[in-house]
Parts: sequence; structure tokens; C-alpha cells
Amino acid sequence: MVDLTRRFDVLVIGGGNAALCAAISARRAGAAVLVLEGAPKFYRGGNTRHTRNMRCAHDAATEILTGPYTEEEFWQDLLLVTGGQTDEELARFMIHESKDILNWIVEQGVRWQPSLGGTLSLGRTNSFFLGGGRAMLNALYRTAEQLGVDILYDAEVIDLKIDDGMFLSAALKQPVGGRTEVRASTLVAAAGGFEANIEWLKEHWGEAADNFLIRGTPYNRGSILKMLLAKGVQEIGDPTQCHAVAIDARAPKFDGGIITRHDSVVFGVVVNKLAQRFYDEGEDIWPKRYAIWGRLVAAQPDQIAYIIFDSTVVTSFMPTLFPPIAGSTIGELAGKLELDPVALETTIADFNAAVRPGTFDHTILDDCRTEGLTPPKTHWARRIETPPYLAYPVRPGITFTYLGTRVNRQARMLMKDGKPSANMFAAGEIMAGNVLGKGYAAGIGMTIGSVFGRVAGQEAAKNARN
Ligand SMILES: Cc1cc2nc3c(=O)[nH]c(=O)nc-3n(C[C@H](O)[C@H](O)[C@H](O)COP(=O)(O)OP(=O)(O)OC[C@H]3O[C@@H](n4cnc5c(N)ncnc54)[C@H](O)[C@@H]3O)c2cc1C
Repeated sequence: MVDLTRRFDVLVIGGGNAALCAAISARRAGAAVLVLEGAPKFYRGGNTRHTRNMRCAHDAATEILTGPYTEEEFWQDLLLVTGGQTDEELARFMIHESKDILNWIVEQGVRWQPSLGGTLSLGRTNSFFLGGGRAMLNALYRTAEQLGVDILYDAEVIDLKIDDGMFLSAALKQPVGGRTEVRASTLVAAAGGFEANIEWLKEHWGEAADNFLIRGTPYNRGSILKMLLAKGVQEIGDPTQCHAVAIDARAPKFDGGIITRHDSVVFGVVVNKLAQRFYDEGEDIWPKRYAIWGRLVAAQPDQIAYIIFDSTVVTSFMPTLFPPIAGSTIGELAGKLELDPVALETTIADFNAAVRPGTFDHTILDDCRTEGLTPPKTHWARRIETPPYLAYPVRPGITFTYLGTRVNRQARMLMKDGKPSANMFAAGEIMAGNVLGKGYAAGIGMTIGSVFGRVAGQEAAKNARN
């Protein structure tokens, strides 16, 4: 039974990776810590439950990572995917700290496993959690409990008392017990983005957001972010920027997770509901491009698209939960997809005619390309000519949003006037926009949460002592 009448040193809102890293590091620094997780225990851990890996710099091969991945290379990768829209000081700090996180996270009970293969090509850059994100979370929760962190589930924070940049207390709503006021010397906000709040998404995306599927937890509704911004915290990021991938259109509205994501784009072509191609499917290596396809599909009529390929590539990518839709001719396939058969036949015929001979290798930027086609397919272009012809319908799958709270290197929130908050820190998705102005490279979400979670916990504990 948690005594909610006492005053805690550190209150952590959220129950995912960022929250747990903050809670553990604050507790290890001697603080009395309370974690409030809005979800029921079974669903604890927000989007972290769905994760598989984390991107960390390292100077030499490890037991589970091939070769070095230097800080500079990590930085260059981040620069590329964000187009420079990143806070260099914070990003370089995160990258530097990520080297140490590789070991720190293991000290908290998490185990790594060798990288998964397939189309991900992450064996050098990303460490995979043994048993996936849920096992990773279970380890963090176990460690937090053993250290004496108090944890409440079904504990949604519905209000924050903040006076002139200083956190005073939080109002908590529980199914049994109702509303309770919780006091703490410092706050760590680790309550995710607003991706599960369709109404908020619609404010920026319009009606199109009704067709979005949310890949993760329904509990990340951005309520804490909204409260903080309303109470004077400086905002960072563009509300339309997010991590969004193409996921199977048959996936559930929320929590479909990783098994709904399609990694087959580079093996075929993608058409919209007019049966027309709209983007270069072979622009770059898949881990650097998979996260743009959600936005691309979001910009198409009715936010739907179709990945079309043939039977020769079926075993080349990780299968998803959903079987492909098959047709013995392109026309038959079009009928099943409710596309205009003539339009799809023309698109595929034009594509096939434009394919130039080359040596296929999906792990490098190979020389299989189209010529004279708009848009081109610049790599991995091979004719679609061996029946049965196959297709996956896809919709935008929103992973997490980038609008967030501005922080400094201590993960301390900055107020609208530029002054650091007296006692409020943020970690994870809720401040991801500091590092990710746009774009994404696989595994950075967990790096942001772990690095800034650890720092937020340490700094919050220090702050509470003073
Ligand atoms: C399908 C999928 C796969 C992914 N795979 C990867 C991957 O392999 N590698 C990677 O780096 N990233 C991955 N990501 C992104 C990654 O999940 C996030 O970047 C990361 O988990 C964010 O951690 P977090 O702690 O900030 O948020 P979360 O883990 O989402 O936790 C937020 C928590 O806040 C709680 N909360 C929200 N509002 C309130 C409130 N008002 N009161 C109390 N609690 C509240 C929620 O219940 C939740 O527990 C993936 C995401 C998805 C959806």
C-alpha cells in the first residue's frame, strides 16, 4: 500500500522506458520515488512494450553488435534523417551518453540478444532486447521494485499544480479511491506523446487523422504535455511531425504493434487508390526510409495505399500478421483491392518496361533501377511479372508524435521565458522533439528515453535534496 499522504522526493508520471530509467536512477541517487502509470498493470509500459531495439554508439564490436558505430557516424545519421532539424548540443550529448547506456541498461537487469536479420540491416547500430520490449520493461520494473520505488497502476494524472515554473502537486484519478492530491519536491514527466489523441491529431491533420491507425498504447493522449504547455513550459517541435510508418490497413485502431508493419516496400512498388505510384520505393536503405512511408500514405487520397509485388520476393522480408491479398493476374488483384484494373495494369507495365538490368542486393544501394519513369525507383527495381501477384493494403501507422517540452542537457524543462524550471524534468517521447525535428532512424526512441530518463532521474534527485 503506497502512502500518498507523504511528500515524495521525485514524482514520475508515466510507466514506459523513460519513466523507469528516471525512477531507477533517482532511487539509486537516494530519492523517495513514486511512479504513476495511467494504464492498468497488464498494459503498463506504453509504447515501450512494443519495442525491439535501441541505437547506441560504440567504439568496438560487442558481444551482440558487429563493428564500431562511432559518435560521429551516429551524429551524421541523425543529421541526415532530421535534415538538420535537431538541437545539436542535446543530440550530441545523447549520442555520447548512449555509449554508456549500453552497459547501464544491463546493470538494471535488461539483457541483449544478437540482432534480428531480415530487411532491418541493424546488426552494427542497434542492440536488440532479449525477449523484446516487454521483457525489457519487466526487468526495469523488477529492478525499480527491488530498489524500493513506489509504483501505482491505473493512476492517471489529471491535473498538475504549477506555480511560476515550479511543480507543487499532481492530482491523480484512480478507479477505486477517486481523486487524490500527490505532493513531491520534483517532477519527471515521462508520459509519452499525443499520438493516441485522434482529436488532437485532427487539429493539425484535419479529417485525414480519422484514417490513421495508432501503433501503440491508447493511453498516450498527451494530457500531461498539454497541461505543461498550458502552464508555461516552452514547446518544441512541429505538431504534424511524428514517426509514422506504413502498417497493414487491417490492423486494429490501437496497439497493433510491430507485427502489423510492412517491410516489403523495397521489394515491390506502392500505388495509391488511383493505382498510381507516388514515391521512389528504392530511395535509400530501408532502416533510413521506413519511417517516411506513414506520412507518404497520409498524403494520398483516403490515406490508403497498396504495396504490390510478385511471388518471387515473398520470402525476402519479415512476414506480418496479415497474409497478402493474391491474384493470378494484375487485373484480378486490382479487382480484389477495388482498384481500377486497367490503371493498375498500366502502372505495372510502365514500371516493368522502365526496369534496367542490375545485380540485386537489398543490403546496399544496388544498381537495379528504373530509367525514364516518374517517380523513379532508384534501387532494387525488378520486374513484377511472376504470378501470383500479391498486395498489402497499408495506412499511416502513427508511432509517436514529436511536439514536446523544451529541455536542457539536464533534462530540465525550460519555461516560455527561457528560464529553466525550478523542479520539472522531462524524458522520452514527451521531449523527443528536442532531438527529432523530423525524420527518424530506427532505435532512437529508446535512446532518447534511456539517456534523458537516466539524467532526469539523477537531476531530479539532486534537485530534491537541495
Ligand atoms: C510498435 C512500436 C514499435 C517500436 N519499436 C521501437 C524500437 O524497436 N526501438 C525504439 O527505439 N523505439 C521504438 N518505438 C518507439 C518507442 O516505443 C518510444 O520511443 C519509447 O517507448 C518511448 O518511451 P516513453 O517512456 O517516452 O513512452 P511510453 O513507453 O509510451 O510510456 C508513456 C507512459 O505514459 C503513461 N501515461 C500517459 N499519460 C498519462 C497520465 N496522464 N498519467 C499517468 N500516466 C500516463 C502511459 O500509460 C505510458 O505508460 C516503437 C513504438 C511502437 C508503437
